Amino acid sequence: MEGIRVVLLGPPGAGKGTQAKLLRQKFDACQISTGDLLREAVQEKTPLGEKAAEYIERGALVPDDLMVDLVANRLQESDCLRGFILDGFPRTVAQAQSLDRMLDTLGTGLQAVFSVQVPRETIIERLSGRRTCQGCGAIYHRTFSPSKAGSTCERCNAPLYQREDDREETVQKRLVVYDSQTAPLVDYYRERGILREIDGVGTTEDVRDRMVRALGERGA
Ligand code: AMP
Repeated sequence: MEGIRVVLLGPPGAGKGTQAKLLRQKFDACQISTGDLLREAVQEKTPLGEKAAEYIERGALVPDDLMVDLVANRLQESDCLRGFILDGFPRTVAQAQSLDRMLDTLGTGLQAVFSVQVPRETIIERLSGRRTCQGCGAIYHRTFSPSKAGSTCERCNAPLYQREDDREETVQKRLVVYDSQTAPLVDYYRERGILREIDGVGTTEDVRDRMVRALGERGA
């Protein structure tokens, strides 16, 4: 497998989804945003969607076996041969170990893991104003990056909505889950020498440029 092979790691609201889209455009690779895939499955009422809905609603993690199957299938699609950007997966050490095995089977490995860092106040501010497009999944912010079309998406015209799990109580729960289950992955990848810490504050382009530089400078 050629091309970019990265994981975006960070708490909800770090900007992973936005950056995943920018990196996909820059590197023409496949974007695997597990939260988006799950929300689509819920909308379409697939068997995965029916199982995942209650976990997402509570701000809890969907069981590892379901997530590993979802990603393993997606990684085998042809667009991923040009590289991949994983956003929101892995989220547990068990998922990270499964990912290592999957990539090993495909004869490849991770190039870098970006740990995107933002202060907690910024997270709350970003999530409370986040608006998501029902059609194409584009991400806006009520104040910081509003859609030029108002309450519809400036790209595809579908209505924007506030994610159910962006309500304040659920956000607090998701942060607790992040600290206990996902934050340990920072050490997991640091020990493997592929962790790159990225300052997630600034314009979306600034943050993207930091990631691109981190890939180049360290020869990762
Ligand atoms: P996200 O869009 O990445 O914030 O994900 C939204 C929700 O989807 C999470 O709060 C989880 O309930 C679920 N989810 C997404 N990715 C994963 C994953 N890798 N493992 C378990 N649950 C996940």
